[in-house]
Amino acid sequence: MRDRAVATMAGGLGHDLRWFDPVPLYTTHGRGARKWDVDGNEYVDCCMGNAALMLGHAPDPVVEAIRSAAGEGTHFGDDHPRQVAWAELLHESLPSAERIRFVNSGTEATLLAYRVAQAHTGRAKLLKLEGHFHGWHDHVLPGTAPPFDQVPSVGVPKRVDEETIVAPHDLDALESILAADDDIAAVFLEPSGASWGRVPIDSDFVTGLRVLTERFGVVLVFDEVITGFRWSVGGAQERLAVTPDLTCLAKTSAGAMPGGALVGKADFMRHFEFGRAKVLHYGTFNASPLTAAAAIATIETIRDSDAVARADATASALRDGMNEILGSRGIAGYAYGPASTFHVYFETDPDLVERASGRADLATSDPRRLKGLPAPLVTRYQQQLRARGVDIMSSTGGVTSAAHTGDDIARVLEAFDEAMESLTSEQLVLTLG
Ligand code: PLP
Repeated sequence: MRDRAVATMAGGLGHDLRWFDPVPLYTTHGRGARKWDVDGNEYVDCCMGNAALMLGHAPDPVVEAIRSAAGEGTHFGDDHPRQVAWAELLHESLPSAERIRFVNSGTEATLLAYRVAQAHTGRAKLLKLEGHFHGWHDHVLPGTAPPFDQVPSVGVPKRVDEETIVAPHDLDALESILAADDDIAAVFLEPSGASWGRVPIDSDFVTGLRVLTERFGVVLVFDEVITGFRWSVGGAQERLAVTPDLTCLAKTSAGAMPGGALVGKADFMRHFEFGRAKVLHYGTFNASPLTAAAAIATIETIRDSDAVARADATASALRDGMNEILGSRGIAGYAYGPASTFHVYFETDPDLVERASGRADLATSDPRRLKGLPAPLVTRYQQQLRARGVDIMSSTGGVTSAAHTGDDIARVLEAFDEAMESLTSEQLVLTLG
């Protein structure tokens, strides 16, 4: 499969994050929290379609909704009732969703948010936070990975450097930047903290940012591509009790199908209205009938069940179990993470480890997490888990779904324990005391 892929596919892959040494996964099917590769290997899936599959693989109501929609025609080039029903569900669920516009991906949602913010303010620049990911279009690429002052891709126009400002997680720094530059249209952030909570953010920071953006007349954009219908039915904005001006949605909010939405307060979304200078927006497959059908079934299932609480409880059990394993092996690291996520940090600074009186001592500083872990450690960690039938999402973290069971938790923890034994004997992790 790998030979065939490299012979025809650019870069040999469909998505840069799927790169894996020695070969990427070629998955044939999934059900619940499990998936299987072309060799018949079974995995407990903690990647979950890049966090899109809040209900697991192939949930019955979603499969049935897609099947029934497909028989009625897959694409009309017209608006249709399922699109309106999907909009109504978003409107009822998310505090900021007074008006909705559908797009085809999370990247398109953040692209459109930037255009609306420029239209609303008459300003040109986008301000984003170090490590926060908002898709792959030119203006959101800067600052996604260290070093934050470099655009991590060739082929991006140089002017992007002037139009996108990358700021640290620091309200004082943000205040100074906003006070000094009156050409900033929007502040974007992942309300989970960078990389779905790998670098935690606290609610005081987000509340402070809401106050600052209002003071400086800057549009506050929450990227809820991952957190929408995962953190809660009302997204991270409900959990944080902070309402942004615009919200970007995709993944779970689109029924784990290709699709997404920009939603926002009516005053910001009026720029789509006809009869005035308007924000242009096209998209052949916006709110495709199949995506709309899947989204409606997904959202209704999450809304009418304890799906969020179950996924959260599974992730919490994984984090606790991982911490127990790290503790009993004396490894200088800890598991953490918000909602239905887990992240693992390994301290690789021997001086810090020597000075630490216990693991709690290490679990404090965000900037160290932001810099990321050494590539050989992350690669071995991922290989060790995958070889034992556990697939995670990226770096050392993963997500859970409502479909994960106690048996899945046990299998992940068993694989994690064995992986830690291996990383210790390979001297890739440090031990305390
Ligand atoms: N924003 C966030 C927070 C994401 O995690 C992602 C994708 O992983 C995106 C935006 C981009 O979404 P898409 O891959 O649908 O373009």
